[in-house]
Amino acid sequence: MSKRLHPLAQKFFKGELTPSELLESYLVRIEKHNPSLNAYLTVSFDEALSQAKKVEEKIVRGDDLGVLAGVPVAVKDNICTEGIRTTCASKILENFIPIYDATVIEKLKAEDAIIVGKTNMDEFAMGSSTENSAFGPSKNPWDLDRTPGGSSGGSAVAVAADLAPLALGSDTGGSIRQPAAFCGLVGLKPTYGLVSRYGLVAFASSLDQVGPMAKNVADCAFLLQVIAGHDPKDSTSFPNEVPDYLACLEEPFKKMKVGVVRELAGEGIEKGVKEVFDWALNRLADAGVIVEEVSLPSFEYALSAYYLIAPAEASSNLARYDGVRYGYRDFEAKDIWEMYAKTRAEGFGAEVKRRIMLGTYALSAGYYEAYYGQAQKIRTLIIQDFNRAFEQYDLLVSPTAPTVPFKLGEKVDDPLQMYLSDVCTIPVNLAGLPAISIPAGLSDGLPVGFQIIGSSFSEPMVFQLAKLAEEAFSFQFKPSY
Ligand code: GLN
Repeated sequence: MSKRLHPLAQKFFKGELTPSELLESYLVRIEKHNPSLNAYLTVSFDEALSQAKKVEEKIVRGDDLGVLAGVPVAVKDNICTEGIRTTCASKILENFIPIYDATVIEKLKAEDAIIVGKTNMDEFAMGSSTENSAFGPSKNPWDLDRTPGGSSGGSAVAVAADLAPLALGSDTGGSIRQPAAFCGLVGLKPTYGLVSRYGLVAFASSLDQVGPMAKNVADCAFLLQVIAGHDPKDSTSFPNEVPDYLACLEEPFKKMKVGVVRELAGEGIEKGVKEVFDWALNRLADAGVIVEEVSLPSFEYALSAYYLIAPAEASSNLARYDGVRYGYRDFEAKDIWEMYAKTRAEGFGAEVKRRIMLGTYALSAGYYEAYYGQAQKIRTLIIQDFNRAFEQYDLLVSPTAPTVPFKLGEKVDDPLQMYLSDVCTIPVNLAGLPAISIPAGLSDGLPVGFQIIGSSFSEPMVFQLAKLAEEAFSFQFKPSY
């Protein structure tokens, strides 16, 4: 990758501030605001300060610096960090301290980034509001009575409230893009296989991807550059050469033809969201983008397919939390069977149990074909619909979420309503494609996200349109916090 330091790291050379001063400015804000926002579950004060000191020594010695030297990064709490508690916002992993770093963390450290802490999320990344966290919900800095979205809600809040400049999230069905939309940020779900999943606690392995969240497109491209690339430890990671995303952002904009996905932009989309979305489409057209409508009929079934496939994979992935090797264990049980049962009954929250039951049922003999098999067929149809659309269009667009950030408590007792929040983001995961959410404008003072979807490994083009859109929308970031 090209050796261009992140703009924050460049400040150290201009003598504007030191890495420790930069970190401390964030730590002060974290101490002040985290108790009300609940963005971080763990703040790694000591490790972060010693990392900052190391960068300082490197600067003094004149050593080569990594591109993220001294830049604090907030990390979602389902990404393993050696020596730092990784809870997945679950009671079952409350005291779990990984003995290794996820590949994305190794890559961040190799570029001298500073892991400032671990962020709140829906338990095991299952949810759309961060309310399924065993450690209380995060609050949206634009309105503290509202959800920041989920499941990477803590990462979104950390960046939106200036408790970190950059963050990592994970996206299985929208968990980077929807909280980015709800908090007025940019968030990218990379192509499946672009970023290693090694050390990401598995939810639904055929869908999970780690990705960047930031306040602008350039920062997202920067962070993706650092974390992308083949990893022999993840057999689903691709051996492709990683393009220079930042250089792509500087290339002259080529004329593009963009398809507005009818199924994701019409029925079910809140009026205020639709108005901002239509306004945004006009700005793109003004900027010379050809905008047309396209229909992808199989999307009608995407949500149903996802809510069979994701729980099915989750029920298998979560079988490992049995109280034997690590994590919470019930010590009162009389025998091993009771220990398994009580550990899981006490350690998992309601939504995780619901997913395990749904998934186990969908995979059970006699129902497998009717549920899991059918869902996989829908997945194929969705991929085919996308392929057809990309024969005609460079990129596809839609709102990122059907509503503005909803009130805390509004949907948490109604799983179906909660699942509907993912209607615009889920088809992308089922097809393994890249998609970004960028802030388009406000509806009733709350941010509305604009989603851009590309074909596999088309991140350079996705970033190009996102940058053009960012300029065309000129979104003003002003959370009331
Ligand atoms: N909200 C979706 C779910 O609950 C997506 C979660 C995710 O992307 N991790 O499954």
